[in-house]
Amino acid sequence: MSLFYYKGGRLYCESVSVESVADTIGTPVYLYSRETLKSSFAEYQEAFSEVPHLIAYAMKANANTAILQLFAHEGGGADIVSEGELYAAMKAGVEPQKIVFAGVGKRQPEMAAALKAGILMFNVESKQELDVLNAVAGRLGVKAPVALRVNPDVNPKTHHYISTGLKKSKFGIAMEGALSQYQKAARLPHIRVVGIHSHIGSQLTQVKPFIDALTRISHLIGKLKAMGLPISHWDIGGGLGITYNEETPPKITDLAAAISPLLKKIGCTVILEPGRSLVGNAGILVTRVIYTKETTEKRFVVVDAGMNDLIRPSLYEAYHDIVPVTKRRRRRSYVVDVVGPVCESGDFLAKERALPSIQPDELLAVKSAGAYGFAMASCYNSRPRPAEVMASGAKYTVIRERESIEDLIRLERMPTF
Ligand SMILES: *Cc1c(COP(=O)(O)O)cnc(C)c1O
Repeated sequence: MSLFYYKGGRLYCESVSVESVADTIGTPVYLYSRETLKSSFAEYQEAFSEVPHLIAYAMKANANTAILQLFAHEGGGADIVSEGELYAAMKAGVEPQKIVFAGVGKRQPEMAAALKAGILMFNVESKQELDVLNAVAGRLGVKAPVALRVNPDVNPKTHHYISTGLKKSKFGIAMEGALSQYQKAARLPHIRVVGIHSHIGSQLTQVKPFIDALTRISHLIGKLKAMGLPISHWDIGGGLGITYNEETPPKITDLAAAISPLLKKIGCTVILEPGRSLVGNAGILVTRVIYTKETTEKRFVVVDAGMNDLIRPSLYEAYHDIVPVTKRRRRRSYVVDVVGPVCESGDFLAKERALPSIQPDELLAVKSAGAYGFAMASCYNSRPRPAEVMASGAKYTVIRERESIEDLIRLERMPTF
């Protein structure tokens, strides 16, 4: 059951009226349900309770430290991709031994910071990276715990921008070369091989690509173990999809039921890296209508949230359900484009969408905006990034202040020449 629901024609998040948040905090504003976050995390914990496991939240989906802290309290770790994420995760109380570090472009200072912090493992994505990590660890007099990110060459059947496990992908190393890379890693003096990693893509709505990828990886683990390599951690990545519109992704429990036999057989500690499926449907973006506008061709609803606040529609042609915060009776339906104030034709939240007749000043909720929403927001067009609010029961609190216009130029300097 969703904790975003109507009561008396008004939209609520838990027991908080969305309108009251918008009136007090202003718009645009991201609004998250704490209970939804908690229960999706609990669902993962429960679903995989039969195998030793770690839920390493892919924090790029939503890096707010209040959300990280919530998951950390529930026993979660973090999947990081930068030193900035390492810093935020540690500040939020994520234990270093529950942090895994992915990414094709890790720089030496980032590696050093993660080694000093004592993270669980680096998910290494290339031969060069392995050598550099070995050197950095050597300088620090430590051994770097390593998993190689292997590219299982499975088509995840998702948008090509978020498909990451095909041969032509920039991520990971090829299946074919994996054995020799592992042998090489095992010989490096400052590398300690601990695991294997794969992540095939995002917004996956079928179980089969997961199974195909994991089956391939399991064969590889068998060979690695036969070679005497200590593969104790099997990081199976993230990518489980959510319902934005009419998608029917597997439930977390269905995914677990489908892959658990494979995981149990191998007997490693399993690491999961869910991002979207933990936070996506726990958040909405609340926006106020500025104008409605009619041309000979089209009807537009101009709102105060733009592509800088939520870029998914522009970037991936992603669908987000949009609903009025206050329902009114007897409204005719019109097909409209919901657009933001940014000076780009690509600035839209919805195209050709049937919505009840919308009035200036009314509030709209853009749903399923908890993942890759604020995290991808920018200040384009010198628009301060929105506030983030967390609701819990009848209470709510700001978990990130709205940026000010002063913030926009705070780091800028006039040249003296
Ligand atoms: C993005 C990413 C994830 C999370 O993907 P979701 O689709 O949000 O679950 C997990 N692991 C890696 C390596 C990623 O790049």
